[in-house]
Amino acid sequence: MKSSADLSSPRIAWDHFADPESGLAGKKKLQLRVLVFVAHPDDETIGASSVMSRVADVSVIFLTDGAPHDPCFWSPDAKGTREDYANMRWNEAKAAMALMNISPERILCLGGVDQDAIHGLPVLVPRFVELLRQQQPDIVVTHPYEGGHPDHDTAGLIAHLGAKSLVRGGHKPVAIVEMTSYHLRDSRCVTGEFLATNGASPPELAVELSLEEQEIKKKMIECYRSQRLVLEAYPVKAERFRLAPEYDFSYPPHPGKLWYECLRWPITGERWRQLAVEAVTQCDEAAWA
Ligand SMILES: [Zn+2]
Repeated sequence: MKSSADLSSPRIAWDHFADPESGLAGKKKLQLRVLVFVAHPDDETIGASSVMSRVADVSVIFLTDGAPHDPCFWSPDAKGTREDYANMRWNEAKAAMALMNISPERILCLGGVDQDAIHGLPVLVPRFVELLRQQQPDIVVTHPYEGGHPDHDTAGLIAHLGAKSLVRGGHKPVAIVEMTSYHLRDSRCVTGEFLATNGASPPELAVELSLEEQEIKKKMIECYRSQRLVLEAYPVKAERFRLAPEYDFSYPPHPGKLWYECLRWPITGERWRQLAVEAVTQCDEAAWA
């Protein structure tokens, strides 16, 4: 399906997506091609179930397989090897996507390892660029840069690098639209809201889910049985989106400790930013893609 609207710039695509009558919050299926690009199986359900139910042409790309190397990060339900745990999460994702009539051919994993996606950029960025060239989406829906989870930030980074690569190659630009995830604010983890940006914050689109959509979203969350302890914290009544701002990935997303630093996860924000800057430099030099 190709959209008939003029979507020749990210701003125009966003205006189409956010139009109160004909956009995502309108009554008809939105005739766009959208890639939902998230770090882990379940992020798409938390942040973008309305995109899956209301957009005509949706594919879901997972940056990682949801299985970290270190078993201390695994669900208590996990048994066997890392690959066994990755299979469990893949099967959960397929079951959740089936509730949205998204067939397994429209679900892909880019091949990153949970917690470690930033270390795989030399492989993952070219794979994502190739997907963009093949699928030619109008919009990529992904995570904001907010220091909640290093893989979420890596998904956002890859989306921005991919979009830049398309423009450099003379392809149709793609708009990056952000969904909410989680971040640290006032000493607690905030879900369902965006971290405020420096300067003027981009306009947001709030989508109220119908009762039927809320029921489906709850059933999708139930499909992710291995993550049930984590997923209880997320609201199901509304979702928020915004056109991605420009980021300087050499700076932290906010002052002070990041949420994943508070959790004492293996990577620090400083190390993540070093690797991100290397990737931005290599992409700018067109060493990749
Ligand atoms: Zn996630």
